[in-house]
Amino acid sequence: MIYADNAATTKMSSAAIEAMLPYMSEVYGNPSSLYSFGQKAKEALEDARSRVAACIGCEAKEITFTSGGSEADNQAIITAARLGALKGKKHIISTAFEHHAVLHTLDKLKKEGFEVTLLDVHSDGLITPSQVLGNLREDTCLVTIMYANNEIGTIEPIKEIGEALKDKDVLFHTDAVQAAGHLKINVKEQNIDMLSLSAHKFHGPKGIGVLYARKGIKLENIISGGAQERGKRAGTENIPAIMGMAKALEDAVSGIEDNTPRITALRDRLIEGLDKIPYGELNGSRTQRLPSNVNFCFEGIEGESLLLLLDDKGICASSGSACTSGSLDPSHVLLAIGRPHEVAHGSLRLSLGEDTTEEDIDYIISAVTDVVTYLRNMSPFWRDLTEGKRQHVFAE
Ligand SMILES: *Cc1c(COP(=O)(O)O)cnc(C)c1O
Repeated sequence: MIYADNAATTKMSSAAIEAMLPYMSEVYGNPSSLYSFGQKAKEALEDARSRVAACIGCEAKEITFTSGGSEADNQAIITAARLGALKGKKHIISTAFEHHAVLHTLDKLKKEGFEVTLLDVHSDGLITPSQVLGNLREDTCLVTIMYANNEIGTIEPIKEIGEALKDKDVLFHTDAVQAAGHLKINVKEQNIDMLSLSAHKFHGPKGIGVLYARKGIKLENIISGGAQERGKRAGTENIPAIMGMAKALEDAVSGIEDNTPRITALRDRLIEGLDKIPYGELNGSRTQRLPSNVNFCFEGIEGESLLLLLDDKGICASSGSACTSGSLDPSHVLLAIGRPHEVAHGSLRLSLGEDTTEEDIDYIISAVTDVVTYLRNMSPFWRDLTEGKRQHVFAE
């Protein structure tokens, strides 16, 4: 099997698994307990917090552990909205191609009277700092823009946006779930007020994540209950997962320098190979993209059929985000970069990992080329295109 869906989730590293085990079998006490056995778990928890903080350039007390990227996004946005509302500021800026954890939270706020400006994404999958500034209003309380897109892998100019917003009375949140382990994160240098991470995207366990919130930002509870996480996130801490995440994040961050050139070369080899398929196009900028991400649209192809046939050939891929698979709506990301509906349905995302080899890439290129040809030969829609009854969207 070739696993080329690392943007959906990753295999846990053995180091992360090792780091978890003692906290399931030996040090299983509740960190909120007063006896020393519980305090051992508490010490581990605080050690993990410091190590996670060091990975993104902040202080330990600015880190809150959550159940994952979705919860961190929800909590960041709800916090900024509540704080904004106190000052009569109820306008939020985001983009049309955020993760649904962001977009659906914004939808909820709209029903509560917030106004949301979703910036148009350029056809290369990028937005600019001047677009953000151009839409800033007196009553803007939050700008939330993802660091890297989960479907097309484009990297947004987070540092420049942070710089532009530095002196403004507005909070800046970024969903950095796809960036972690691929791109350098330093919240102070990048002027980021709040940031979300998810462990299972960087070889850590599922169901655990991080919300960084700059000192002075009073987080709004999403989960109410006990006083864990300084009262900002109730529920007994998932110590094993937190320990696994801290180890995975440290390894991911220290591996960036070694992995980036190698994975980028594999990515470019894959793009070059798939580019030879006629009437197909890469989605998103060729250069401003994650080393691991390749995403193509092919005309006359239905994404689901493509994925099933690739599965038969032992390739795990995706047509966009795992969260929209199973729905027949075309990807909101591809629509946001201006792909017409009929080609947005024919997308393929391949996301590489540290284990991907050159042989894997060559196998994927030949498998995708074969499957695309096979599907087109059976498709009445494709026949219309070849007979000139419909217009092609892409060049040959
Ligand atoms: C995966 C992902 C999330 C959600 O993280 P979970 O831990 O699965 O809740 C949020 N944002 C982006 C960009 C993602 O890729």
